[in-house]
Amino acid sequence: MTVADRSLRFTPPRGSPAWWSRHWLRIVAVTAVLVLLAGTHYPKLVIGTPGDGPDKLLHFLAFGIVTALIRLSGIASSALMAAILVGMLAVFDEFTQEIPGLGRSFDPLDLVADAAGILVALAWIAALGPDRRGPDWFRTSQVRRQAALVLLLAKPANWLHLAIATSLGAMIGGVFLGVAGRNPIVGPVTMVVVGASAGGIAGLVACLESGRRFSLARIDESKRCLSCLEPEAVPRCGACGGGYEAASDRRIPSRRIALVATAWIIASAAVLLGGYLLIMPASSVRNWLGAAVRHYDAFGLGFEMMVDATLLGLVGAFVVHRSRRRLSRIADRYGLECLRCGHDLQGTPGGAGARCPECGEAFERDSAAEDVAARSQSEEHEGR
Ligand SMILES: [Zn+2]
Ligand SMILES: [Zn+2]
Repeated sequence: MTVADRSLRFTPPRGSPAWWSRHWLRIVAVTAVLVLLAGTHYPKLVIGTPGDGPDKLLHFLAFGIVTALIRLSGIASSALMAAILVGMLAVFDEFTQEIPGLGRSFDPLDLVADAAGILVALAWIAALGPDRRGPDWFRTSQVRRQAALVLLLAKPANWLHLAIATSLGAMIGGVFLGVAGRNPIVGPVTMVVVGASAGGIAGLVACLESGRRFSLARIDESKRCLSCLEPEAVPRCGACGGGYEAASDRRIPSRRIALVATAWIIASAAVLLGGYLLIMPASSVRNWLGAAVRHYDAFGLGFEMMVDATLLGLVGAFVVHRSRRRLSRIADRYGLECLRCGHDLQGTPGGAGARCPECGEAFERDSAAEDVAARSQSEEHEGR
């Protein structure tokens, strides 16, 4: 079993950095649920004026965050389990708002926003989760990326850095959209919430990404086990039976990765835009579609913005998922096609020091590449 074959279900040995990472994730997940329950039951809380209520967006965000934490911390052992657990929480949350004296009320549209948040969070986890596709070197590089994030979350000080970066991003984004985003349609409170959530996510991702690089250096420096992250795991980890694996010199150049992702983004944006242009003019039409659009408009701007956020979230997860699939297929063709430019290398001799005649990228043709070539050729013959 290679390092890349170890799954997300792996239980780290007690006291290892991977165990601590999960421990902190669980504490943050439970805290998030408590904060959520306190927020939704705070007596007579009204956010924004009528017509400027970001409450659907807040429901969407809060349940998305709670779902992500519940799933990543392993409290829910699968995506389905996470959906059931957080779904039950949403129903409980909405029904207990009926308690007399709280001045809060049951709103079925809140439940729709909660479900949308759960769905988007699970879609992103599925899109970014472990993937068994692609050759060993490709999967190892993904396992190393994930191990670096786990190591990052093992230290409380790093959680503090992430919290600071998220809050700073939220403050900058909120102030920016609250001031520069003034417009007659969307109210200022909603604009601040939109800016704060976008800024917060940007701050969090930037901090995670820079921390991940630092963690990867720490993993290489002390040859940490990629499963439980204990140091000196060479040749095998004494604590869990996993092991350390160094980075491969094979990698897909970032320019190619950006090209693949951009192609998927443009394609998805075109489909979304086309859909909007088809549906938008229908609101004045006297048929079932027009009636449906008018019915939807009656839900209000807050709800519509939540639906937009859901669509954007799902399309984003889809783009990430498709791009990763495409990259694993590119990795599979290593030695047959150039990783940098995609040039067909099958006519080029693949000995030591071989380079792509198009762009000069070094490559090496091993037996795995020969197998892939033989397989695709026999498939072509069968197809005819
Ligand atoms: Zn280990
Ligand atoms: Zn090339």
